[in-house]
Amino acid sequence: VAPALTVALGDRFARELPEMAVPWQAAETPAPRLLALDEELAAELGLDPAALRGPEGIGLLTGTLVPEGARPVAQAYSGHQFGYYNPRLGDGRALLLGELVDTAGRLRDLHLKGSGRTPFSRGGDGLAAVGPMLREHVVSRAMHALGIPTTRSLAVVATGRPVRRETLLPGAVLARVAASHLRVGSFQYARATGDDGLLRRLADHAVARHHPAAADADNRYLALFEAVVAAQASLVARWMLVGFVHGVMNTDNVTISGETIDFGPCAFMEGYDEDTWYSSVDQGGRYRYGNQPLVAEWDLARLAEALLPLLAAEQEQAVELAVEALQRFRPAYDAALLTGWRAKLGLPEGLDDDVARGVVDDLLALLRANKVDLTGFARRLSAAARGDAEPARSLVLDLAAADGWLARWRALGPDADAMDRVNPVYVPRNHLVEEALAAATAGDTAPFERLVEVVSRPFEERPGLERYAEPGPAGPYVTFCGT
Ligand code: AMP
Ligand code: MG
Ligand code: MG
Repeated sequence: VAPALTVALGDRFARELPEMAVPWQAAETPAPRLLALDEELAAELGLDPAALRGPEGIGLLTGTLVPEGARPVAQAYSGHQFGYYNPRLGDGRALLLGELVDTAGRLRDLHLKGSGRTPFSRGGDGLAAVGPMLREHVVSRAMHALGIPTTRSLAVVATGRPVRRETLLPGAVLARVAASHLRVGSFQYARATGDDGLLRRLADHAVARHHPAAADADNRYLALFEAVVAAQASLVARWMLVGFVHGVMNTDNVTISGETIDFGPCAFMEGYDEDTWYSSVDQGGRYRYGNQPLVAEWDLARLAEALLPLLAAEQEQAVELAVEALQRFRPAYDAALLTGWRAKLGLPEGLDDDVARGVVDDLLALLRANKVDLTGFARRLSAAARGDAEPARSLVLDLAAADGWLARWRALGPDADAMDRVNPVYVPRNHLVEEALAAATAGDTAPFERLVEVVSRPFEERPGLERYAEPGPAGPYVTFCGT
């Protein structure tokens, strides 16, 4: 018999922002079966993993057993999708179950994805398939293990209900944990109502939950915007350093907390090329790897527009303040990227910024010209720092160029041990993710479990896992917006 589950879910979002919260109920699940559970995250939340595996736990993780006092809601938001504004997006297949206080005292959202139709479903069925939910589970676990701010996946439960896509697929519900689900699109929604009181309440809610220091600023809403700019600049730099291509940086997929959200069409770049994208629906490559900082800045400009009425009484002055704050994105991003590359290359503390930048730029040119696997090369560099350049050099076709760069970099005295702490051996390789999801969809979750285990300890090289450290077969890789 599973232990009883004790969980207290708050309804702060629903209480403070009722205009953006529609009370709703999750769909029934005919034959629920737990496919994945992050036990470490469960412990962080003060939830007993054994209880989560029991019937009460499965009820919580699918929204079919609502804890006493909880008030699940579908959240309203708007957003620019591929540059086009959509006034009414919202949780079309998701529900906020409520907020809980974790063991560190932080407030976290417990949220479901794939839990049935809501008033925001438009043409959609409100459901999710096993494959895409397991993709979110494994990639978000990898991101967390890499130290990158991210929404988390507590669990994936197969529902026993088929989902109609191109074919019939097994359905699933993912239980997501996030600092919150506030997005740029939440502010766009509030702004579009024309109710400045709602906009202000939303901003106050965001300040309290994510950027409390802003409350002490002379202009707290400007300080909120600046804090989001800083958080996103840092986040996108972190993505770039591991070759993460988010794939769908619409304004509804940009969080106010600075956590990564939405793992629908994401992928990890292998052969280095700024013009890399994978999403089948991204016709022009708007969300390609090299465009991510520019797009983040564009998305933040939409946040600035939404916040204008709060920034100053005079519109002209509000615009001036917003532009000035937005102009800090690029330098913040550049600084975060350079700091990250300094660490990846093990460069000594005191090294001049211009020298560091030169070494990084030349390396990126080398990687680009030779389409070198970013993850593999960066990791093998530590061996080069220890005196064996061959593993890294063998990944580059133009050996003369490789030798030139390696000699110049080694002369700077890189710290190999420090490099091994920041350059992952294992990221979720696209072909291995596909392989694992296909097997799980067919009923065999063993490859998925193995992959989760590997990417959960990305910096620790282990024998027998060589295939997890290798890039996939060359050739086009396509992702489909996670449905
Ligand atoms: P996304 O592209 O994943 O950020 O989703 C964009 C919007 O489409 C959000 O409002 C989602 O809730 C909604 N959506 C995506 N898939 C479905 C679905 N199967 N049923 C209903 N709404 C959906
Ligand atoms: Mg989304
Ligand atoms: Mg999505």
